Amino acid sequence: MIDEKRLVELFLRLARLNAPSLDERQVADAVTAELKALGLIVAEDDAASRLGGTTGNLLCRVPANWAIEPVPDDDKPAGWVEKARQDPLLFSTHLDTVQPCLGKKVHLGSDRIFRSDGTTILGADDLAGVAAVLALLHELRTWKKPHRPLELLFSVAEEVHLQGISVFDASSLHAREGYVLDTSGSPGTGIIAAPGHLHLSFTVQGRPAHAGIAPEAGISAIAVAAQGIARMRLGRVDPETTANIGRIEGGGETNIVAAGCTVTAECRSLDPGRLAAQARHMIDSMEEAAAEAGATVSVQTHQSYHPYRVDPDQPVARRFQAACTAIGKTARLVSTGGGSDLNVLSRAGLSGMVLSCGMQQVHSGAEYLALDDLSDLVRLLMALVDAPV
Ligand SMILES: [Zn+2]
Repeated sequence: MIDEKRLVELFLRLARLNAPSLDERQVADAVTAELKALGLIVAEDDAASRLGGTTGNLLCRVPANWAIEPVPDDDKPAGWVEKARQDPLLFSTHLDTVQPCLGKKVHLGSDRIFRSDGTTILGADDLAGVAAVLALLHELRTWKKPHRPLELLFSVAEEVHLQGISVFDASSLHAREGYVLDTSGSPGTGIIAAPGHLHLSFTVQGRPAHAGIAPEAGISAIAVAAQGIARMRLGRVDPETTANIGRIEGGGETNIVAAGCTVTAECRSLDPGRLAAQARHMIDSMEEAAAEAGATVSVQTHQSYHPYRVDPDQPVARRFQAACTAIGKTARLVSTGGGSDLNVLSRAGLSGMVLSCGMQQVHSGAEYLALDDLSDLVRLLMALVDAPV
């Protein structure tokens, strides 16, 4: 049913372009051209100037039953057609890829698997999602398939701390429900919960002294930081919460008691209360260690993104499960430890899930994508645009 030749050509064409974060111009232009050739209108926002990149987030609105004329109201209960007109479904993907990604040599092997030559990533993260959305539009038109209205969002700079989506005006979306096509594994898996993420930066100020002549006069900021870290619960703190020290820097010559030290850390939790409690615990640990040693510590925190959770009974999850059944797959609903554009979109009120797109071993030269998984993803999208719940 899926035009496999067209799908292969689409993915290869996109994956052979350069799309490092903040310079997604090549892929954005290709996507825009594809959408315009289908007669659709694409808007690009001002993310390029706001982020110092070359490319803005793209948004394309597809009217209900765009692929067919006239609208076949007979095919569906009238109420459903009416609802679909007012209630678009969002599909969101990102245009950028992680490094190394320049000059990718991408091919489809005789085993029906897309790979790079190993010196770069493949870019199926997230061009599998992008190609699937474009293929969906072609398929809808080929098959003149009734569908609800769609909003298609292609974000930039997702791989660098969700910068693109963070400057996108999510209030401009009409969709209240959607799917972010951006996680590993074969289609059929959907993420219903993801953690919030807090970044912490500690600056410990001790007191310098000659390490050989008067060590008693000094307060080692490094030793204080070490004491503070040793008090912290880190790693997998509980089933929903993780914490990690990412970097420690400080000091200078060995003959000087280190006056300064900085520590950067993060914590994540599916639960907002536990996230706040873990952050408080890490801050308290460092402040207590500093106070006991007579040092000072200043702390900066930044909530990179917020957690989200969707109940399996919510329409967005039920629709996904129905769509999986429709294509002969068993839906798997899982939680994750990573963030995605959905963490930002859900803050704006979107009820959504992140879906597996077939990409495997992402962010490495071993990244690959099975053509059968990519085809299944397109079939899944076709079932999603159709499935009323
Ligand atoms: Zn991604």
